[in-house]
Amino acid sequence: MSSSNLQIESAVIIGGGIFGVSTAVQLARMGVAVTLINDGPLANGASGRSLAWLNSSRRRSIPYHRLRQAGMERYRSLSDRHRDADWLRFDGGLTWDAADAENEIAEIYRYERNLGYEALLIGGADVATWVPGVNGTAITEPGAILNPNEGWVELPVLIALLAEELRAKGGEIVTDAGPAEVHVHDGRARGAKTSDGRCFEADVTLVATGPAVPAMAAEMGVRVDDATPVAVLVETHPVDHPLRAVLNTPRVAVRPTATGAFFLDSGWPEDEVRQQPDGSYHVEQWVIDGLIEEAKKVMDPAPALDVATVHYGPKPIPGDGEPVFGEVTALPGCYLAFSHSGATLGLIAGELLAEEMALGLRHELLDPFRPERFMH
Ligand SMILES: Cc1cc2nc3c(=O)[nH]c(=O)nc-3n(C[C@H](O)[C@H](O)[C@H](O)COP(=O)(O)OP(=O)(O)OC[C@H]3O[C@@H](n4cnc5c(N)ncnc54)[C@H](O)[C@@H]3O)c2cc1C
Repeated sequence: MSSSNLQIESAVIIGGGIFGVSTAVQLARMGVAVTLINDGPLANGASGRSLAWLNSSRRRSIPYHRLRQAGMERYRSLSDRHRDADWLRFDGGLTWDAADAENEIAEIYRYERNLGYEALLIGGADVATWVPGVNGTAITEPGAILNPNEGWVELPVLIALLAEELRAKGGEIVTDAGPAEVHVHDGRARGAKTSDGRCFEADVTLVATGPAVPAMAAEMGVRVDDATPVAVLVETHPVDHPLRAVLNTPRVAVRPTATGAFFLDSGWPEDEVRQQPDGSYHVEQWVIDGLIEEAKKVMDPAPALDVATVHYGPKPIPGDGEPVFGEVTALPGCYLAFSHSGATLGLIAGELLAEEMALGLRHELLDPFRPERFMH
């Protein structure tokens, strides 16, 4: 599909994670000549080690909730086109809080119901009839929220699929290029330069480099506040277990996978990550054992979980927690994509950004998330 309203002929995308690849393929579908540049292989950043729970759970600003719901809809459409996909599932999400004064489940449940977000409040005694594989005795009062519309995606599989389409549409993918930077000429972004001296010229440029976005934006004179932690994602070996929903519980999040392995993460291990002299990350064994034990407590029957891999690395999060999408007004032709929940937002963000870049539009849905908001 090409558009006669195209304002550009070519685009360079820096970053081979979900935002970069998704935007690139949308541009190629419109008939734009796209070059995508990544420092290493595709999906070697946050997208390659994401829990990738597709959700708009809990309290958010209304614009952010709308964007996330649009993001989930795009995955539904994708799932209709890939009906047998084992890498994209909608088996629901279940969440509960600790039994303390900060338990917000009753308020969150009302909030989600008021927004029309599908939510059921269920007690531990009833959970087995709704969600197989959960230990009901772990669920605290006043219960858990089941969001049947939620799911998960295997981002590396999706990225490979989108990259294949990009190549088929004539897009160029340059991997293992080392760190690239925006090529600026006459006060406008005109593509990218790679560290080995190559220059890729284009009419517009997208910086979708995950946790590297705030530093790259600073070089262009744009402040993007950053709250990126270093996250830990534990991948287990496959195990025979009935749990299919994503669990988000006080001490562990558990996400099934296509192979029968589980992904585990939580906020508390982020406080325990230490950087080694060689730049790599590390946590003590008790942290990994702790995540495994927490997962066993919320699953029924308690499985024998063995660690296959521990993934470490930055989880991109803007300073105010909300996404950063759109053109840098101080540098025409340069666009940014930087957000947490990039699994949920990956398809919708690519679609809207590509239209802004190629057609010169400004989408109302993205207006609350413009890069300049941190300057005020
Ligand atoms: C542990 C964890 C759990 C998460 N859980 C969820 C969840 O449940 N639901 C959800 O929706 N989201 C979740 N997220 C967030 C989501 O995974 C990210 O928001 C998303 O993957 C970000 O994609 P990206 O394209 O912005 O960045 P990335 O995937 O990091 O891609 C950026 C790419 O740019 C490359 N790069 C960097 N600098 C340069 C440069 N100068 N030149 C060239 N290339 C460069 C990097 O190597 C990388 O490949 C989670 C993330 C983590 C880490």
